[in-house]
Amino acid sequence: MRTLLCAILAVLPTLIGTTHLSDATSSPSAKPKLDVIVLDAGHGGKDSGAIGPGGYMEKQAALGIVLKLGALINKELPGVKVVYTRHDDHFVELYRRGEIANAAHGKLFISVHCNSTPEKPSNASGFTTYFLRPGKTEAAIHVAARENAVIKYETGHHQYQNLSDVDYILTSMARAQDVKFSEKFASLVQQELAKRLPIPDNGVSQAGFLVLIGAAMPNVLIETGFISDPKDEAILKSQTGEMKYAEGILAAIKRYKAIYERS
Ligand SMILES: [Zn+2]
Repeated sequence: MRTLLCAILAVLPTLIGTTHLSDATSSPSAKPKLDVIVLDAGHGGKDSGAIGPGGYMEKQAALGIVLKLGALINKELPGVKVVYTRHDDHFVELYRRGEIANAAHGKLFISVHCNSTPEKPSNASGFTTYFLRPGKTEAAIHVAARENAVIKYETGHHQYQNLSDVDYILTSMARAQDVKFSEKFASLVQQELAKRLPIPDNGVSQAGFLVLIGAAMPNVLIETGFISDPKDEAILKSQTGEMKYAEGILAAIKRYKAIYERS
């Protein structure tokens, strides 16, 4: 846990100078509008992410769902601009994903991943949506440690160094409103996925994902299923399964948009 907290703290200084708050928090008089959504397909390129017993890779599952979701948003929510951190199979550093989101003035950041167990195949199954906070449970800490391990593929780690506790506290306070919206969106995602997928709803959880720290807006990370479970893997691999995830997340976005824009 100590190591993980250090990793979380280490990325924050880069945010202090560049963080902008969402419209919902920075201008109380302005009407918040969910006009830019950033879709983040986890992993990519040399980083395959977890690999299922049938050989399907997390980077493929994440991209498949994100591209279908982006197309649905374009079709059904024409006033919303979609920004991708990657739209093909190439490697993008974690800090860079946050930079892309911030530069686009995103109002919601959705990171899509797959869960996995060290032993494969395993029977662990189902979906969980995380929002950013230091992990409270053993399982959440384990998931965050696995996802954060991607920085081993990055050529320089300077982006994650030099942080003081004061920086951490200031950033946390500034983003309290974002955390509230993130938690709300996370619970809507779980509700909508539960309506569509025949695998367990493992609920909303909190963990310290580096990729979420970098995006200065309400943000969640969805572990769509356990790619280490043959049944979950088969769903993730199928076009129908990808579409169910995309439709579920779209339905959550529609409900969230109504709540966000009247806040
Ligand atoms: Zn992942």
